[in-house]
Amino acid sequence: MRNIKKIVVHCTASPDNLDIGFKEIDQWHKDRGWRGCGYHWIVRRDGTCEAGRPELEVGAHVKGHNADSIGIVWIGINSITEAQKKTLDRVIRGLLNAYNLSVEDVYGHYELFVGKTCPRLDMDKLRKSLRTEEYLPDGPSDSEIEINLIDIENQILDDE
Ligand SMILES: [Zn+2]
Repeated sequence: MRNIKKIVVHCTASPDNLDIGFKEIDQWHKDRGWRGCGYHWIVRRDGTCEAGRPELEVGAHVKGHNADSIGIVWIGINSITEAQKKTLDRVIRGLLNAYNLSVEDVYGHYELFVGKTCPRLDMDKLRKSLRTEEYLPDGPSDSEIEINLIDIENQILDDE
């Protein structure tokens, strides 16, 4: 078992209207002389999640951090679809549980490699939405998070 410490989010930087997935990425990465798809999970435009490289194997997606990370990629460049946001949220939550990690262990590629813009998402916003109970499509504002926390507290009181 690898010692996983980070979840790293990427985008393919392919045109948003290109409906590609594991097969195409696998070919691109083979063309680079790699063993094949360097990401562990792929989130297609329609929100379908495809398995890439097995999690037990070291990926090829973020220089200097491959050994202890899992790589997830959303297909596209400028605009992530609502379906992709939902799948990304679900997959990341699943990985955090599986590897006993916290939201702070979720990184965007650009946070680990200076000069990158990948995954072209606001990672603070993404981490904020992961801290809430419910998935919020565009990431919650600070006041929404406060409301959410109050709701959770009320619920606990109600249950008791
Ligand atoms: Zn990347």
